[in-house]
Amino acid sequence: MSGTIPSIPAARPVIGTAEIEAAVRVLRSGRVVQGPEVAAFEEEFSDLVDGRACIAVNSGTSALQLSLMALGIGPGDEVVVPSFSFAATANAVRLVGAEPVFADIDPRTYCLDPVAAASVIGPRTAALMPVHLYGHPAAMDRLTRLAERHGLAVLEDACQAHGAALGARPVGTFGLAGCFSFYPTKNMHALEGGMITTGDPQLARILRLLRNQGMEQRYANEIVGANMRMTDVAAAIGREQLKQLPAWTERRRANAKVLDSLIHGLPVPHVADGARHVYHQYTVRIPDGRRDAVQQELEQKGIGSAVYYPTPIHRLTPYLDPGRPPLPETDRAAAEVLSLPIHPTLGQTELERIARDVSIAGGAR
Ligand SMILES: *Cc1c(COP(=O)(O)O)cnc(C)c1O
Repeated sequence: MSGTIPSIPAARPVIGTAEIEAAVRVLRSGRVVQGPEVAAFEEEFSDLVDGRACIAVNSGTSALQLSLMALGIGPGDEVVVPSFSFAATANAVRLVGAEPVFADIDPRTYCLDPVAAASVIGPRTAALMPVHLYGHPAAMDRLTRLAERHGLAVLEDACQAHGAALGARPVGTFGLAGCFSFYPTKNMHALEGGMITTGDPQLARILRLLRNQGMEQRYANEIVGANMRMTDVAAAIGREQLKQLPAWTERRRANAKVLDSLIHGLPVPHVADGARHVYHQYTVRIPDGRRDAVQQELEQKGIGSAVYYPTPIHRLTPYLDPGRPPLPETDRAAAEVLSLPIHPTLGQTELERIARDVSIAGGAR
């Protein structure tokens, strides 16, 4: 069957003529490391975050790690994170010597539950680091109030949420710092790359120092820093992608509307009041232990799908802790979620096929 019907991949990163020409232009210029393209990319990306300062780095993980470092978070500190995320969220905390403390999620949005987060705050807690998972904003209004009450920093893992918002406010503008990723499968990419957004000029300066060996003036290193710079080649590609992001986001949102209306017998993604979901993933739930069978059935019909994430972070080897309180909503989500194709290049007939086949395979029986 899949021999005759073209298959639909779970994700379809775009590397178009504009990206290729931009990369070639920079390569031919001979000026390839962090330079004017990076500066322009930072300037242009700041439109997405209400004009906040933007600091480009070489990955989303670096963005998280540098933000934690810049805030002086390290050994002895705890950072509250969701376990239902990509491992990078917790890895960044460990990489600076601090300890991630996992809190459960809201089962409707899959994002950090403010009540659960409050329950794990202790004397060592230094920060909250919510994740805008799948492109849906976390409950930033309640989480920032919680942080204020306890004197905690807020960092946003916005690696999946370029252009998402809560009310009029875009993600990446709620915390002391917001962190974005430009990995190929994200809503926009720069082959690899990341961006830190901040409203604090002093923090922005420290971040710029930290990404480049602690120097502003060449060989006048002020502090200990890393090399987490973005290349001008990557930035040139990112700039081309950024131009297309608004249209791609609207396509993702329109595709989600089509799937919402055509899928039957399964809960479609929830959108919280006031939330602008950018559908990095379009994730349904398939209960009763049937998820993996449904995924296989879709695969046989040529429809790619993916599970983000089959193993929550607290069950990964580096993070096992037998004494930790259970995270029931996280475990349930890990067993039930299935992300369907939602990328902007899908056409109406592909969307109809996805909706029909997932409704047949996954509908209540
Ligand atoms: C992709 C991702 C990261 C890491 O970004 P990289 O660019 O791959 O380092 C961090 N957190 C989340 C939630 C992500 O999806």
